[in-house]
Amino acid sequence: MSRQGAPMQAAAAITRIPVSAIGRGPLRSALSATTALPTASPTASPSAPPTAPPAAARTHGGSALHRFDTAAGAHLLVVDGSRVYDLPPAEAAAADRALAAGPAAEQALLARLNLAAARPAVVDDDIGTPPVTALALNIAEHCNLGCGYCYADGGSFGQAPRREAMGWAVAQAAVDRLVGGLAPGATARLAFMGGEPLLARALLRRATEYAGEACARRGLRLQLALTTNATRLTDDDAAFFAHHGFAVTVSLDGSAALNDRLRPRRGGGGSHAQVLARLPALLARQGEAALPGRPRLRASARITVTPLHRALRGDVEHLIGLGFAAVGVAPSLVAADAALRIADGGFAELLAQIVDVADACERQLLRDGKPDAYPFANLLDALRELHRGTHRPLPCGAGAGYLGVAADGALHACHRFIGDDAARFGDLGRGIDDQARGAWLAQRHVHRQQPCASCWARYLCGGGCHHEVLHRGRAACDFIRGWLDHCLRSYARLSDARPELFG
Ligand code: SF4
Ligand code: SF4
Repeated sequence: MSRQGAPMQAAAAITRIPVSAIGRGPLRSALSATTALPTASPTASPSAPPTAPPAAARTHGGSALHRFDTAAGAHLLVVDGSRVYDLPPAEAAAADRALAAGPAAEQALLARLNLAAARPAVVDDDIGTPPVTALALNIAEHCNLGCGYCYADGGSFGQAPRREAMGWAVAQAAVDRLVGGLAPGATARLAFMGGEPLLARALLRRATEYAGEACARRGLRLQLALTTNATRLTDDDAAFFAHHGFAVTVSLDGSAALNDRLRPRRGGGGSHAQVLARLPALLARQGEAALPGRPRLRASARITVTPLHRALRGDVEHLIGLGFAAVGVAPSLVAADAALRIADGGFAELLAQIVDVADACERQLLRDGKPDAYPFANLLDALRELHRGTHRPLPCGAGAGYLGVAADGALHACHRFIGDDAARFGDLGRGIDDQARGAWLAQRHVHRQQPCASCWARYLCGGGCHHEVLHRGRAACDFIRGWLDHCLRSYARLSDARPELFG
C-alpha cells in the first residue's frame, strides 16, 4: 500500500506510507515566517494518548536514513526525497544495523531494497537566484509595545530609534518591483510588518489598494499578510482586511498574566486586555467574502515561547478558544534578555511542551478527523508538508523568493535581516543585487552547512532559520530532530487511522 501520493518502485514487502510527493519541493512559503520545527510521539493505539519516544529513538538517524517505530510497525524515512516506508520486522532490523554501521551500509541497504535509484537526488547543489515573488514591507520602524524578546528591537533593529514610517514612494516602488517581476497568472505576495504596522495604517491601506490595482492590470493573483500586535486594531481595519482577503497573524503569548509580563506597553501596563477587546471584530469576520479572486480573511495567533511558558498547552488552548483559525508557536532563541531566551539546556523541556500540545491536537484528529477543532499550526503544517514530501535546500524563502524591504528601501534577505549589511541585496532604486543574493544563497545551502550536510533531517529542516543560526548557532538541532521525529510518527499514525485527512 502506498501512503504517499505518487507511485514509485520499491522492493516487495516495503510499502510507502502516506508521506510526500515526488520531485523538487517548493521553498518554504515566503510569507510564513515559521521556523522549521520538528515533531515526535509514538502511541499504542489511536485511542491511547500519544507519548514521547525515548531520546535514543528520536535521534536514530544517519545521513541517508532515519528509522522510527509506531504501534503500527516499523518505518523508514529515506532522506533523499523525504520518502517514508513501512518496513517488515526483518528489514527494520537490517536498517538498524545499517544505521549503526554508517553511510556505506546505509547506501547498500537502499540499493538492496531498490530504493536508492528510485528517485535521483532531488535537491540541486546550485539553486541560483529564484525569482522574487514575495516582499515584506517594514512599514513602521517603531512599536507601541516593548516585548523583551523582540528580534527587531521594537522595529529599530538596534539602530537609533526612528519614529517615521516608510514613505509612500518606497512602498510604491516595492509594489512596482514585485508586480513588474512576475508573469501574468503568477501570485504576488505582499506582507506588512514592523515594528507595529498599524502605526502606519494609512500607508498600509494605500499600498494594499495600489497592489490590488497593479496585480489586476497585469493578471496576477495577490496574497496579502499582516503581522500585528492588534493593540491598535479597529472595526474598520477588520472590515478592510476581510475585504482584501488578508492573512492576519496576531502576536499574543497566552494567558493575561504571562502575556502582560512578556508584551508590556511602552510606558507601562500590559497589552492583553487591550488586544482581547479588539479581537472580536477581526475574528468574527473570518470567512466573510473578499474581493473576487482573493482568499477569505484568516486570523492566526503566534506565541513566542520563552522559559516563562510553563503550561504551553493551556496557553495554546486559550488562544484557540478565542476563535483563531490557527495557533502556532515559535521558540525565543535570540532574545537579548537571557531570561526570555531558551537556554542551551532548555530544549528538552521545550520539546516536551510542544509535543504535549501536538498530542492534544493528534488526539482530536483521531477522534473526529477535523483539523479545525484543534488548529495547532505547527503540527498541521508539518503533517501537510510531510505528506507532500517536502524537501528543501533552504529553511525558507528568505533571499530566494522572498525579500524584506526596509523603510528606506534597502532590500534584505527577510524581515529579520533589516539593517544587516551582510544580508543586504541592493535597494529599490538600483534593483536587486543578484550577485550578492546568489552568493549568500549558495553559502546558506543546506549542503554547505555543517553539520547539516550529514544530518538525516536536512531536507525537512533546510538547515535552520538563517537568522537564528547566524545569531545563536545550532543549539536547537536535537530539538528540531526530536520534533520532526514526532511529526513523522504522528503522520504514520494518522495516515493509518484517518487517511481521509491526507486525501
Ligand atoms: S544539523 Fe542542520 S539540518 Fe540538522 S537539525 Fe540542525 S540545522 Fe537542521
Ligand atoms: S530566515 Fe527569516 S524568513 Fe527564514 S525562517 Fe528565519 S526569520 Fe523566517
